[in-house]
Amino acid sequence: MFEAGDRDFYSIAVFAGDGIGPEVMTPAKALVARACEKADAPAPQFEDLPGGAGTYQTLGSALPAASIDAARTADAIFLSAMGDPTVRYPDGTEITPQIDLRMEFGLFAGVRPVRTFPGMPVPLKDPRAQSLDIVLIRESTEGLFSPDAPGRVSEDEARETMLITRSVTRKLSNFGFEVARARAAKRSGTGQPGRLTCIDKANVFPAFAFMRSVFDECAKQYPDVTADHMYIDAAALNLVKRPWDFDVAITENMFGDILSDLGAALMGGLGFAPSADIGDGHAVFQPCHGSAPDIAGRGLANPTAMILSGVMMLEWLSVRFECPQTADAAHLLQAAVEEAYAGGTLIPTEAGGNHGTQDVADAIARALG
Ligand code: ATP
Repeated sequence: MFEAGDRDFYSIAVFAGDGIGPEVMTPAKALVARACEKADAPAPQFEDLPGGAGTYQTLGSALPAASIDAARTADAIFLSAMGDPTVRYPDGTEITPQIDLRMEFGLFAGVRPVRTFPGMPVPLKDPRAQSLDIVLIRESTEGLFSPDAPGRVSEDEARETMLITRSVTRKLSNFGFEVARARAAKRSGTGQPGRLTCIDKANVFPAFAFMRSVFDECAKQYPDVTADHMYIDAAALNLVKRPWDFDVAITENMFGDILSDLGAALMGGLGFAPSADIGDGHAVFQPCHGSAPDIAGRGLANPTAMILSGVMMLEWLSVRFECPQTADAAHLLQAAVEEAYAGGTLIPTEAGGNHGTQDVADAIARALG
């Protein structure tokens, strides 16, 4: 662990990527830097790196070795969105270097907070939907996305394999229990214990029964956290009907891919949903959305998810480097986003309003001061 006083800057590897990626990355970098300046925290030193579908077209590699090396040595990786449906590998699959980074750095925990606050254009009418505070954790290196279990396609059939390992499930479960425990500690005084739900399909697939048994084994180490299970179909229903009942949940990669978009919808759209992919030594912070080629270049992208991913990056750096000023910077930026939306008049285009990228970024910048 580094001491806070050891450094006066953080090295941040930046992948602005494709489509709306650069459009949302530009204001996010400026706001993260401004928050650090205001909090007297180490300044972020951004290094822009090539990666994505455009890089594949120009350099012949979607993630050049030099970019991986620079990302490996950086303190954190800040990534917007990569990919373009019109640019594909010879086998027809899309360019997804963000998935390659997860595998490269073992980023098993895809943390997808579903957090809403007053003024956000949320779709559910129940007042409780305006103050959701859930954390979905998507396993991000195996499951149906495992590169160790590639699909096979022949003339007459196609097969995919789902890989669930004891070691990763254990790490994922323990990570989830720690998050649930830490959140409960922050709520101390409410008497509300932490709760971790394992979302699976253990009634049908032996792989999920295995995942559940490893989860149950880990639960014994966390008697202070309530551990329970839910089938994926029930989880999809409950996340729409009564999302406020969730606390923290872990799930398999493919299920998590789908549920995190559902979570984004609860926040008003993909442009509101931040995420962090966390491993033992590295972490990537990126919005849940993709490169959105349908709106790219038109100034319509909502940068909120990218900016909130910056908040998550500052929170993570503050813990990693034990730096309270960086925690203050995260707090200031989160508060600025909440203040910008508080009046209910800031409505990005994706939520039916007429505020584009610059309007949203300016509103948050004004609130940050
Ligand atoms: P990927 O598979 O790479 O995650 P995707 O296929 O889920 O990508 P996105 O690129 O995320 O697709 O876009 C899905 C829809 O959400 C599109 O209609 C897009 O315009 C919209 N969208 C995504 N991000 C934003 C944003 N930041 N602001 C506004 N709309 C967005």
